[in-house]
Amino acid sequence: MTLNTLKSYHTVMLRFRSILTLVLVLITTFLVSCGGSPEVKVPPTYTPEKIEQLQVYITPITEAREKMAIVADLIAKKNWVDTRTYIHGPLGGLRLQMLNLSRSLLPKDQEKAADLAKEVFGHFERIDAAAKDKNADLAYTQFKEALKDFDSFLNLLPTANS
Ligand code: ZN
Repeated sequence: MTLNTLKSYHTVMLRFRSILTLVLVLITTFLVSCGGSPEVKVPPTYTPEKIEQLQVYITPITEAREKMAIVADLIAKKNWVDTRTYIHGPLGGLRLQMLNLSRSLLPKDQEKAADLAKEVFGHFERIDAAAKDKNADLAYTQFKEALKDFDSFLNLLPTANS
């Protein structure tokens, strides 16, 4: 075999392979479009496996929710330095965790969850600003709002026994 025949043989094989791929795609498309007799729409739900996977995201968030009591305590003591440190430190990663979890929820809940996560952080930012101004009333009002949105967020999450 000369180099040229070898090359043209190779070209032919490549072309044959791409035609074969195309045929397979067409067959698959055909089968798929015929296979699904009248489409039954089942509303998506969480499988136990999915809920288990989500726990990786959910656990640090529920832990953060428990730590909110510490923030309430710091505000009550007018400990503004630690209030601000706590929001940026231990609760600093919460925004990303909540947004990541939002994207893993059922499609119908994703937008609501992301909105609530942003709400929580809007309130955190206002607690931070209030702490900077040593404004206890505002800090506490914003804290209560943050809790409300945080709990609404948690209510969207699936639980193992539901
Ligand atoms: Zn809010």
